[in-house]
Amino acid sequence: MSPQNLTIIGLGLIGSSLAHASRENCPNIQITGYDASPDVRARASEIGLCRNIADTPETAVQNADLVILCVPVGAMAEVAAQLAEHLPKDCIVSDVGSCKQSVYKALQDSLSNVIIIPAHPVAGTEKSGPDAGFASLFKGRWCIITPPDNAPSKAIEILQSFWQGLGANVEIMDAQHHDMILAITSHLPHLIAYTIVGTANDLEEVTKSEVIKYSAGGFRDFTRIAASDPVMWRDIFLSNKDAVLEMLQRFSEDLTALQRAIRYDKGDELEALFARTREIRRSVIEEGQDDEAPDFGRKH
Ligand code: NAP
Repeated sequence: MSPQNLTIIGLGLIGSSLAHASRENCPNIQITGYDASPDVRARASEIGLCRNIADTPETAVQNADLVILCVPVGAMAEVAAQLAEHLPKDCIVSDVGSCKQSVYKALQDSLSNVIIIPAHPVAGTEKSGPDAGFASLFKGRWCIITPPDNAPSKAIEILQSFWQGLGANVEIMDAQHHDMILAITSHLPHLIAYTIVGTANDLEEVTKSEVIKYSAGGFRDFTRIAASDPVMWRDIFLSNKDAVLEMLQRFSEDLTALQRAIRYDKGDELEALFARTREIRRSVIEEGQDDEAPDFGRKH
């Protein structure tokens, strides 16, 4: 059975992409959207994001059989508390948050008589807001579903086939394992990008205009990641604190080893590592997770 009435709370990049993708791939679904920001609601209506844009969170969910929360992870608890009294019994409440243990806890604290099944589409861009979304965002990307032990298998199947219908590949895993994997594949890379771009900005020996002028040397690739939404990423680091700190510790140790290799002219160590990392890039392309065009497909 597929959902008939989908409610999307939060109409930014992910929420608006979900609306576009659902319209395109699920012709019989009724979509209702809500966002806390009146400007975002007005813009969502203007661009025809979904059939109904509700004025309040309560009215947004009144007929829903699937509700997907697409707000920053730090706002999940507040949204769950707003919806708690108004959700139809037995409706499925899911989300797209980038951390899974903290979001489940936030939802569980307020919601009862509904089925909570957290999920995370591992897809995105550095843009935010209702104009940033597009229907193909989830195509060929992974959506990780982290059902709690008591989630009914029928509801998991409904959510799984919903995401598959949008073109995503679905993986089911434990929330703790999700948070550890994402700490290394997503959260740490963002932290490193934020650091490098911040450090370059603070340098006194090199001017800011020189940093920007010569950015094609590698720096500009970090600036894409470091342009990601500040609120969203603040919340991710605070919500997935333990896993991020654990990965950061390992990273610092590896960085120190590299520092030593450079200091003591251990060229073979450097070369061996760089050969291994080049293989990783090859695997990412072979798995269809990036384009093989050189320089990320930039026009030259
Ligand atoms: P976004 O573009 O900033 O959109 C979030 C929207 O939620 C904004 O319009 C925001 O309004 C609204 N909002 C905030 N608090 C709210 C509340 N209490 N009630 C209703 N609406 C509220 O962010 P996004 O990139 O779509 O991210 C949304 C979620 O997806 C996050 O949990 C993030 O971790 C997850 N995610 C993001 C990516 C990515 O690459 N961006 C990928 C996968 C998953 P205001 O702007 O007025 O605050």
